[in-house]
Amino acid sequence: MIEDMLRTPAAVRDAERHTAHNYHPLPVVISSAEGAWVTDVDGRRYLDCLAGYSALNFGHRHPTLIAAAHAQLDRLTLTSRAFVHDQFADFCRELAALCGKDLVLPMNTGAEAVETGIKVARKWGYQVKGVPDGQATIVVADGNFHGRTTTIVSFSTDEDARADFGPYTPGFRIVPYGDLAALAEAVDEHTVAVLLEPIQGEQGVVVPPEGYLAGVRRLCDERTVLFIADEIQSGLGRTGATFACEQEGVVPDMYLLGKALGGGIVPVSAVAADAAVLGVLRPGQHGSTFGGNPLACAVATEVVRLLATGEFQRRSTELGERLHAGLRALIGKGLVAVRGRGLWVGLDIDPTLMSGREACERLMERGVLAKDTHGSTIRLAPPLVITEEEIDHAVAQLTAVLAG
Ligand SMILES: *Cc1c(COP(=O)(O)O)cnc(C)c1O
Repeated sequence: MIEDMLRTPAAVRDAERHTAHNYHPLPVVISSAEGAWVTDVDGRRYLDCLAGYSALNFGHRHPTLIAAAHAQLDRLTLTSRAFVHDQFADFCRELAALCGKDLVLPMNTGAEAVETGIKVARKWGYQVKGVPDGQATIVVADGNFHGRTTTIVSFSTDEDARADFGPYTPGFRIVPYGDLAALAEAVDEHTVAVLLEPIQGEQGVVVPPEGYLAGVRRLCDERTVLFIADEIQSGLGRTGATFACEQEGVVPDMYLLGKALGGGIVPVSAVAADAAVLGVLRPGQHGSTFGGNPLACAVATEVVRLLATGEFQRRSTELGERLHAGLRALIGKGLVAVRGRGLWVGLDIDPTLMSGREACERLMERGVLAKDTHGSTIRLAPPLVITEEEIDHAVAQLTAVLAG
């Protein structure tokens, strides 16, 4: 194809013209997708190894999810929570069962689930734990990513995410991720919750030391503090289990879910916890116009059913081993480190070779889409429907990129 007959360059320029530049996308303009593959406006195909930051765990346009969405579009899309609708009960019951919790509270975006978790923990702290009014603290980890609201960026340690957005919300203490002693030190009688990602995705798929999450669980039990697990990215099959916490034998008091819960179709997030925790909310104290809407519930119920089969968790475990093995073989050949779990990998590229951004641009030219996180780190999170051959293909393309 002749370069100036391509539609991509003009489409990239058009896409930039009337938007705030809060993203720096790779110059690919996607127009259709199916499973693990996307197609751009020039008809080129790419293997999607980002999967919408794990919002597309079941691949693009999974037939079961698309069918549920179509059927619901033809019947009912929105009621608000002022009324009950016929998709609500099944969704809440089945998601609660998947989580092993009494109750769920549906919202839309991940950040809203995090905000909900913070509000519930504070109210629980005042009403159940007996913390003096206005004194509640929540302990979080450095390197965290929990979303973009003003309160959430208040406890970010990423200066890009935080700078110039103050004044910041008080009530958070930041400790080093993976350091139990520091955590124990930071928790006091006013602490209502410890809020953590069981694996830090945005930070580069950072897995904490073995025993850390179990230690957090013990500490929270001893000090009557809620353990809130932000499983928005790590959960719902990504690591080879329904929840990353499960793989450490840990059950948190509260799960924060999002991303894949919407099946790559609609934004759906939720908080799941027992009645002793979520039960502190009374009518009028929290809500969302779109949270738990019929379309969201219809799609997310099918997501829960896909997960209940265990098939995607199994795929992530088995195919993840192949992906990790393929990538580990590149250590010393352009990679300095590989870490992660299941079909979720953080790669550190030798920074003297190229930046993460440059590696992603070269991968794109070879038909593989991935995204750098920080500096020379790339995150791979392909859809869990990816095949062995496609994994080998992705590894082969990365091998070629690293070989220059
Ligand atoms: C993506 C993400 C969020 C925020 O979700 P949004 O839907 O973008 O608001 C929160 N926590 C974690 C761990 C995430 O990966």
